[in-house]
Formats: sequence, structure tokens, C-alpha cells
Amino acid sequence: MIELKNISIRYGSFTAVHDLNVEIRDGEFFTFLGPSGCGKTTTLRAIAGFETPAAGTITAFGRDLSGLLPEERGLGFVFQNYALFPSMSVYENIAFGLKAHKVPKKEILPRVQAIAEKTGITEHLHKKITELSGGQQQRIAIARALVLEPKVLLMDEPLSNLDAKLRVSTREEIRKLQRALGITTIYVTHDQEEAMAISDRIAVFNVGRIEQVASPKEIYNHPANAAVARFIGDINCLGGTAKQELRQTLGCGDDELLFIRPHKVRITKQPQSTPGSSELAAVIDSFEFLGAYTKIIAKTPDNCPITALMFGSETEFAVGETVYVQFRHADVLALREG
Ligand code: ATP
Repeated sequence: MIELKNISIRYGSFTAVHDLNVEIRDGEFFTFLGPSGCGKTTTLRAIAGFETPAAGTITAFGRDLSGLLPEERGLGFVFQNYALFPSMSVYENIAFGLKAHKVPKKEILPRVQAIAEKTGITEHLHKKITELSGGQQQRIAIARALVLEPKVLLMDEPLSNLDAKLRVSTREEIRKLQRALGITTIYVTHDQEEAMAISDRIAVFNVGRIEQVASPKEIYNHPANAAVARFIGDINCLGGTAKQELRQTLGCGDDELLFIRPHKVRITKQPQSTPGSSELAAVIDSFEFLGAYTKIIAKTPDNCPITALMFGSETEFAVGETVYVQFRHADVLALREG
């Protein structure tokens, strides 16, 4: 287990990370997720030993890491820009760390070959880094970190230099490899879809603090506060009369905001009073047919937009048409600001 206790990290008078507490379990794929500048990379770098916290302790498998150099921590690090040596071959890049750690010469070749096999890069071992695509370089960077047999793999936005399609296939490969090796992994991304797709658990960061730590499903279905709800997936924040009526019906406090996911909103042509639901008249403002579903934006008479996703519906709507927007009370999230 990796444990961060009361960690604060400062740059001069600026506090980038405030009193952070989090535990990462053995074998877990754990993601630091949050918008740019919220302290994810800084926290990861502190675990790796590249930043020194102003306060707090970091332990890994019961060992206090403070005072240890990065190379003494038993952690592998994959950087955003891969940090490979362009003038060396793939083999030399992977062997580099083993040589630096004074691994006996006769062990180097079999260890590089074994990790190349596991990461699917054997065919590239004798190529130059400059001959490889971004996705291939990313795998070399992972192999280079893993060859040292770290107990933990730290990855900082490892897919950010890849195009959208390659990001998806490469994240699946990373997850498969992580599962196969059972290695505890801490992964940094600002991409919420990526985080949801690959993580066992996610820590949602916001301005130097963690707002919530939970599984992707839990975070999506039960966000801890409004900041998390807005950051994870699309969501409607209800305003105007919809908010006032629902607040009364649900007995919510004035400081609670009301949210509903677009796929939980129903839009019908006729009013339908359903027990346990609220209904509002609205006018279709726009709709987009997106193949598997149609995205509809309807506006209430007080001009509040509500987005709905309709899956597999044959119903056709026209812009300007009056419709009825329904929410099940059980699907409405009443949340305070973070
Ligand atoms: P990104 O996804 O953009 O990398 P992040 O969540 O990883 O964002 P950090 O890189 O951890 O954010 O930065 C957190 C805050 O600390 C930011 O406000 C950043 O400007 C500041 N910061 C980071 N490194 C330094 C530094 N070396 N000196 C001063 N301020 C820094």
C-alpha cells in the first residue's frame, strides 16, 4: 500500500497541494484525475521523489520514503514525453537502467528480452527510437520502467502525445499489461473518459485538494459534490422554476444544487404524470442525431436549457416544438459546491 498522509507541497509562497490524504491499495490501478493545474503531477512527482513535500509523509509498503532518492524508492516512472534517449537503440534504452543499477552483465540481455516479450516490443529492440511511432515509443518507455521490476508504476499523462484513436487502443493495452503483471499503478490524466475506462479507483483533484476517492461507477453515480459532478461526464444543473419546484418536492436546502444526467431525462410529446417524477413543459431548442442516440436540448419557459439523450427512440422532434421533460426524483442529485 502507498499512503500519503497530510501532504502539502509548496512552490515559494504558493501552495500547490493542500493537506492531502490518500491510500493506494496493492495491485490497484489508481488514477489522479482533475483539470489542468490542480496538483496531480506535483503529487505524483512527490511520490517519485522529484518534489519534497513541505509537510506530511509518504510511505510505500510500510517504508517511509522521505529522504530517499528517486532511484532508491523502487518505483518506475513513465513521463509524458517518454524521456527516451533518441540516439540509442530500443535495446540500449531499456538496458540503460539495468546498467546504472549495476545489474550483472549476463542478466541484462535476458531481462530486456523478457520485458520486451511482455510488452510486445521484441520486433523493435534493435531499432532506433527515431524510427518508432509515438505509440511504439510509449511502449518502450513502459518497458524501460518495468525492466527494473518496480513495485509501483507511476505514469504522468502517458497518452497525451497520441492521436485520439491511438489513445483508446493504447490505454486498453496499458490496462491489460497492468492486470497481467498485477503491478500497483498510479496514473495521472485530465481526461475523465480515460480515467473512467481504465481505473479501479479515481481520486478527483480540484485546486490542490482531493474532492473524492472512489470507483469510476461510484464517482459517476454518486459524486461527492457539485465540482465532481460537473467534472465527470455531462450533467444538467437545473435552474429556474425546475430547480425551485424540485427543491420543494425533494425537501432540499438552499445551498444544494440539483443535477441530473442527460440519459436520465425523458422527453415526450404528451404530458405523462408518473408517480415519483416531475414534469415540465419545454420547447425543443436543438437536436443532433449521433447514431446510437439523439442529443436533444429543450428550454423551459424561463429559458433554462436541459439536455437529454434518447437511445434507440423512433420519436422525431422538431425545433420549436413544445414537449414535456420528465425527471425521476430518484435520479436527481442534490449536491453542495465542493
Ligand atoms: P497539468 O495537467 O496541467 O500538468 P496538474 O494538475 O498536473 O496539471 P501541477 O503540474 O501539479 O498540475 O501544478 C499544480 C500547480 O503548481 C499549478 O498551479 C502549477 O502552476 C504550479 N507549479 C507546478 N510546478 C511548479 C514549479 N516548479 N514552480 C512553481 N509552480 C509550480
